[in-house]
Amino acid sequence: MLAFIGAADHLHMEPPPILPIAPTLYPCPFVMGCVMSFEGNVQAIHAHLCQHGIIYNDRESVTCPYMGCTKEILWKNIPCHIKECHLRIRRTN
Ligand SMILES: [Zn+2]
Ligand SMILES: [Zn+2]
Repeated sequence: MLAFIGAADHLHMEPPPILPIAPTLYPCPFVMGCVMSFEGNVQAIHAHLCQHGIIYNDRESVTCPYMGCTKEILWKNIPCHIKECHLRIRRTN
């Protein structure tokens, strides 16, 4: 039985990183079934979260919307966290 999906919480495992589908394009890791992709920069990540209606106040502490990630971070730091921790992009430009 392949039952490893959804087990990340119990095992305290880091969710797998997003693998780019093109050098600068990443598939949506937020909403199951979303076929959109976005560029690997904080503006594009933030814009895509907004497309899903995932919007909070900058100083609100929220759970990372990345599937399998349970980190609580300030909303304004979420795009940066996703870029660095899940897309594994350090600094571009
Ligand atoms: Zn999406
Ligand atoms: Zn996360």
